Amino acid sequence: MIGDLNGKVVLVTGATKGIGKGIASVMANAGAATVVIGRSAIDGQKVVDEIKASGCEAMFIAADVTDKASLEAAAAKTMEVYGGIDILCANAGIFPSASLEEMRGEDFDLVMNTNVKSTLFSVQACLPYMKKSAQGRVIVTSSITGPITGFPGWAHYGASKSAQLGFVRTACIELAKYKITMNAILPGNILTEGLIDMGQEYLDAMCASIPLKALGTVEDIGNAALFFASKEAQYITGQTLVIDGGQVLPESLDALS
Ligand code: NAP
Repeated sequence: MIGDLNGKVVLVTGATKGIGKGIASVMANAGAATVVIGRSAIDGQKVVDEIKASGCEAMFIAADVTDKASLEAAAAKTMEVYGGIDILCANAGIFPSASLEEMRGEDFDLVMNTNVKSTLFSVQACLPYMKKSAQGRVIVTSSITGPITGFPGWAHYGASKSAQLGFVRTACIELAKYKITMNAILPGNILTEGLIDMGQEYLDAMCASIPLKALGTVEDIGNAALFFASKEAQYITGQTLVIDGGQVLPESLDALS
């Protein structure tokens, strides 16, 4: 079976909700001891309780991905409880909206810190433990927005998601000497708490622009992350995988009719 993670330890940032919650649940179901990272202890414990109710192993550790020390403490705690870290899913991210005219320097910094600098801090915090793994994997949640598409209000977000890919393409070379692979997933529109906050009009418009005529599920992203995490994906590194129901493909509205 592709994606047997029995005996592996997975740390997922931004797992208290949304895509991260989906990744955590898929990884735990594949047999991994799964660490749910986020700021909200209430949401995080709920995710852990759900995972444990299905007979799998998980624990919550509170950490803010913009704070390197809190990620280092989370990695050390993971080591103490589960004895190592094999797989890091650097998923936490935010997507606030601001037009070019409204966008302040601090809006830009918050998005870059939460979405990009966090990727560096997560890798740095886990690396000392992942170096010892026989199946070291880093999986980054980027987006189609930035690397492939654009959307008004998300200039800072698009920049951050493209920056993650630039980071992956060099970091994966540095990680290769430890036999750690690093790849990125580019989700399209996935139904999460964060996306629901965009409003029904946005969700309907997105759904209409997707050839498969449905928003993605968090499990769709979790399954792709599981593939990159698997032993079977050991020779894939520095790559990207778009999971969007075909959203980036239509050349015009006619192509969808
Ligand atoms: P979401 O539902 O809003 O969940 C965001 C998660 O990130 C939460 O668990 C939140 O946890 C965590 N988070 C945010 N800031 C954090 C911080 N400073 N420290 C620690 N955790 C933090 O968002 P989502 O839709 O699942 O998005 C997750 C990732 O997928 C993001 O990187 C996003 O860019 C990407 N993505 C999403 C979509 C989509 O359609 N949904 C599409 C493309 C890419 P706490 O609030 O508990 O801290």
